[in-house]
Amino acid sequence: MKTVALTCIECPVGCRIEVDLEENKVLAVRGNSCLRGKMYAENEVVCPKRVVTSTVKTTDGRMLPVKTDKPVPKTEIFAVMQKINSATATTPVKIGDVIIKAVCEDANVVATGNAE
Ligand code: SF4
Repeated sequence: MKTVALTCIECPVGCRIEVDLEENKVLAVRGNSCLRGKMYAENEVVCPKRVVTSTVKTTDGRMLPVKTDKPVPKTEIFAVMQKINSATATTPVKIGDVIIKAVCEDANVVATGNAE
């Protein structure tokens, strides 16, 4: 058995959490103040995920801020960035518009800014 220590990033409190693991199976979680933190810790030690933020070029030559609408596995971030870097958003674009559908599993890349 091994114990992994991490800091929860789900809210500003930043609880210090310990997870007991055996062969990639979670045995126990300690230090979390809520269920959200427990779920974060369990996912982080088995399959860590992150929301990807970046920019996409637009058809009129500007850069549009974007992000994934769900966290994606850290192992897929490079592939997601390659798709983002090769995409072009057709203007006009509003916040929340899907720029790349299903970029990774069911996560989409969405606009976080407007481009009129
Ligand atoms: S365990 Fe809960 S209270 Fe603690 S940092 Fe995570 S989300 Fe916040």
